[in-house]
Amino acid sequence: MVRKEKEHKLNLVIIGGGPAAITIAKTIQDKMKVTIIRPEDHSMIYCAMPYAIENLLTFEKTFKSDNIVFDAKAELIRDTVSNVDFDTKTISMEKNKDINYDKLIIATGAVPILPPIEGNRRSNVMTFKTEDDLKKIIDLVDNGLQKAVVVGAGAIGIELAQALNERKVETHLVDMAESILPNMMDIDMIEETQETLIRAGVHLHLKSKVEAIQVKGKTEEIILDNNKVIPLSSFDDNCTELDKETTTGLVVFAVGMRPTVGIFEGTKLEIEKDGIVINNKMETNIPDVYAVGDCCQFTSALTGEVISGKLATNAVPMGRVLAFNLLGQNREYPGFYNGAATKINDVFLGGTGFTEATARKNFEVEVGYAEFTTAFPIMPSAKKVKLKLIADKNTHKIIGGQFISGEPVADKVDQITMALQFGITVEQLTSFSYSSQPYQSFYPAHNLIVKAAEEILKKFQVPSQN
Ligand SMILES: Cc1cc2nc3c(=O)[nH]c(=O)nc-3n(C[C@H](O)[C@H](O)[C@H](O)COP(=O)(O)OP(=O)(O)OC[C@H]3O[C@@H](n4cnc5c(N)ncnc54)[C@H](O)[C@@H]3O)c2cc1C
Repeated sequence: MVRKEKEHKLNLVIIGGGPAAITIAKTIQDKMKVTIIRPEDHSMIYCAMPYAIENLLTFEKTFKSDNIVFDAKAELIRDTVSNVDFDTKTISMEKNKDINYDKLIIATGAVPILPPIEGNRRSNVMTFKTEDDLKKIIDLVDNGLQKAVVVGAGAIGIELAQALNERKVETHLVDMAESILPNMMDIDMIEETQETLIRAGVHLHLKSKVEAIQVKGKTEEIILDNNKVIPLSSFDDNCTELDKETTTGLVVFAVGMRPTVGIFEGTKLEIEKDGIVINNKMETNIPDVYAVGDCCQFTSALTGEVISGKLATNAVPMGRVLAFNLLGQNREYPGFYNGAATKINDVFLGGTGFTEATARKNFEVEVGYAEFTTAFPIMPSAKKVKLKLIADKNTHKIIGGQFISGEPVADKVDQITMALQFGITVEQLTSFSYSSQPYQSFYPAHNLIVKAAEEILKKFQVPSQN
């Protein structure tokens, strides 16, 4: 009788259970012995969390099913990794026994930043990422929360502020920038939509930085750097000093993320300001140790400089590159384009690459605009759609684009991202081949992308004066 040799599978351990980790497990399947270690009871669909506050979804709908992990034939250990010994390839956890790995993937993500200001430890002053954060906000709102201050007018802050406003909470949105969504949209593109946010009831405080959260007499106040004060809650005459430590309003900081790399500090793993240093194959400086997603520092695909890119739509492709390489391919991750989208009231908006304001720091820039409708203008369903296209004057390559529309724009943003990815020039975009149908596009005579590119080309071709 021939005895079958037991197949030895490579032992791959992933620390973290977010989208980067799940993508890897789903891609590897049973070709390796994959173990995911994460502490949470539920992996969250973070992007959906504001909509559970708004009551569009139930709380439980924001949980990712663990079946995703089990269907990928991976093992799930619910625990927190406390230490990794890279020499002996040993992982220590808070509750479980040590385990060993052949290959290790660090996918520990990032945590929201709570700025070190006076009052940041008061009750109801928080950040927004975990299941507990979501539960706390939902409970507060369900129990009659009157007032909230959201700090940070990026996509997360905007979505959260709108959800609170929809639930009839007096909502203030504070940002240091001149306009909302400063990393996604230029001020000329966002101004009008910003007004609709104000008209919907959100109190907007731009060019304002939160300096402290403090109790003065009978009120708790948010102090801004431009001498503005937002009263948050008031205490009655009988309240004690102890009562004053409890906030009845809510303050949420949505001002950015910092990589979760605490357990690796002081080890030989190379870490810089924005996370673990990796190459474009997701390899760290330690053999057999890789890192992917929000815990990593990475670069712009357009300039090669380190930029922030803490998005699921970056974490997932990073995971995919690594997983396919572990399966024997030779892929490289090009870097961040940062295509992203959001929604404000009935307006869908999104951008990719650099805004004009950011691009001007590195490039000589030319921009072009086009505005049409999402269907033939004679059709009842037609909504406005506007594009701002940004190009490098020297290479003529497209380096950014922003859309505003009455209909979803994520697919359009992705079309421009593709132009960025393949180094497409303004000239090439003017011959972009498109389709047309009364319900689904403007008249065949025009296309948004072609028109905006033509606008830029005209500016490039200013005839000489002599
Ligand atoms: C409210 C909100 C809305 C968002 N909306 C969008 C959006 O619309 N589009 C988009 O592209 N992105 C969005 N993002 C960003 C996106 O969620 C992140 O970029 C993405 O989750 C990063 O994936 P990741 O796998 O790298 O890390 P994470 O999802 O952060 O996962 C990290 C995992 O590592 C675990 N971990 C950390 N330390 C340890 C340890 N010591 N031991 C064990 N496990 C550990 C964590 O507990 C977690 O399970 C949003 C984020 C938030 C908070």
